[in-house]
Amino acid sequence: MSVPVADPQADTSTIPSSADAVIVGAGFSGMYLLHKLRTMGLSAVVIEAGTDVGGTWYWNRYPGARVDVESLSYSYSFDPEMEQSFEWQERYPTQPEILKYAQHVADRFDLRKDIVFRTRVTAAHYDEDNRTWQVRTEHGDAVSARFLIMATGCLSSSKHPEIPGLDTFKGATFHTAHWPHEGVDFTGLRVGLIGTGSSGVQSIPVIAQQAADLTVFQRTPAYSLPARNRKLRPDEIAAMKGDYRTYRQAQKESGFGVPVPPPTKSALEVSEEERNATYEQAWESGSLVNLLSAYVDVAVDQEANDTAKRFVHRKIHELVPDPQTAADLCPDYPVGTKRPCLDTNYYETYNRPNVHLVNLQREPLVEVTEKGVRTAAREYEFDAIVYATGFDAMTGSLTNVDIRGRDATSLKETWTAGPRTYLGIGSSGFPNLFMITGPGSPSVLSNMMVSIEQHVDWVCDAIEHLQRQGFATIEPTRQAQDEWVDHVNLIASYTLYPKANSWYMGANVPGKPRVFMPYAGGVGEYRKKCDQIAAKGYEGFVLTP
Ligand code: NAP
Repeated sequence: MSVPVADPQADTSTIPSSADAVIVGAGFSGMYLLHKLRTMGLSAVVIEAGTDVGGTWYWNRYPGARVDVESLSYSYSFDPEMEQSFEWQERYPTQPEILKYAQHVADRFDLRKDIVFRTRVTAAHYDEDNRTWQVRTEHGDAVSARFLIMATGCLSSSKHPEIPGLDTFKGATFHTAHWPHEGVDFTGLRVGLIGTGSSGVQSIPVIAQQAADLTVFQRTPAYSLPARNRKLRPDEIAAMKGDYRTYRQAQKESGFGVPVPPPTKSALEVSEEERNATYEQAWESGSLVNLLSAYVDVAVDQEANDTAKRFVHRKIHELVPDPQTAADLCPDYPVGTKRPCLDTNYYETYNRPNVHLVNLQREPLVEVTEKGVRTAAREYEFDAIVYATGFDAMTGSLTNVDIRGRDATSLKETWTAGPRTYLGIGSSGFPNLFMITGPGSPSVLSNMMVSIEQHVDWVCDAIEHLQRQGFATIEPTRQAQDEWVDHVNLIASYTLYPKANSWYMGANVPGKPRVFMPYAGGVGEYRKKCDQIAAKGYEGFVLTP
């Protein structure tokens, strides 16, 4: 696998021996946390494995990488001046543009001087006598802090496929989540690509244009909508910037962190013509939320969902004339129950003569060989293999660190049957440990920027409350946590989400417990609950003097 090269612009800060807070990760969560804690007068150090800020946008540099939330929406709201001055270029910005934004934020607030780069946190143990976290890094450094904040992201622990023979391949291999900074030139090469989630769906059309030949190995097809990406028009930028506060408020109150008019009708109460016209509008709009929110019951009722599924299947058959390829590209699970994708020319790419689709459900993958990939049917020879095989989502980046709370209890062991949190923010037995967008919060079911800001604000308010009231620690009660986990499961059970083998359910990682991890009640409702809990003196948490 290729390893990213160093970024010259990143500072080389050294780790202090103590700080008020240790923040793990310098993505959008860690950056905002650092800024906010500093303004509260606290000392904080961020520890980051990469060589610069950006988190997921630092690592995921694969060809075609873009966010699937619009730029004017997928950005910080906490600094109105920055909101006005930063100039987004595209409707759905590319990874380089988002990284540039992250770097702009780091420069603006001089964040890098308190970020230690090129350093992975390996362990964090709670010292009950001193009520501090003892944090250790891969380089043997140690720092003690009152607060430990895991800003490690939901999709940052990448996953290699569990296929025999991975190391035997003699050609070049790449993982979408660790793309070389200098890029990859596939010109003239025979390329194999495994995985058709968002990373595969975005990279396949771009790699297909360059490679001599591209073979895509698909285990489960994705639902994908055309992004209809384009340059932003000056008038729409001006309109948003002219009334940003109203928009930001609407984001906070919405279901997915992207305001859309709430649906009022059932998909089953309208005529087929009306329904198809609505779905057509969503398809044309280039917005996933418009499809998922087209009717009140698309996400919760199988029959209603089937109407959306039939619509997308029809679109795939229109875009891909070869009937077998089109049929292979049609998913059979409910729309939206695995993360849908937003693409540019994804389905059309399969019409190219140099692109081939291998349906692993008909032709199972057997092994990676010296020359390429062997399926049950034959061996395919390649010069390069791209793994677009995803992440140990939501829990991987937390349990990869040896986190031990009171009585040396291990977070990883406590979560063997699935993550247990209160609000997705804290976990019982782990005082003064906060997670940003942790399991049990809306996180990946939302515009991440909205959820990140909400969590950072809530956590910082909680810390301020402790300071003001003279409390030393905050920790969820076991009972509040159990009730929250039950509530998260209950809400999920009202939806179709548990019907798919998704990474939301931990189903992509062998041995991972099948638990629906994010909170599906919507960001607006969730925010209200968090605010009520804070207003009641942090109900469900134990605060110790
Ligand atoms: P992913 O959605 O988990 O997709 C991984 C793909 O690899 C799946 O098709 C999976 O098949 C396949 N796979 C995994 N192990 C395999 C094996 N052993 N054999 C064959 N196939 C295997 O990962 P991702 O595409 O990196 O995306 C993850 C998430 O990151 C997205 O859902 C999204 O939330 C986020 N993301 C967002 C954007 C964006 O904003 N546009 C872009 C990229 C990623 P199965 O489905 O059968 O497991």
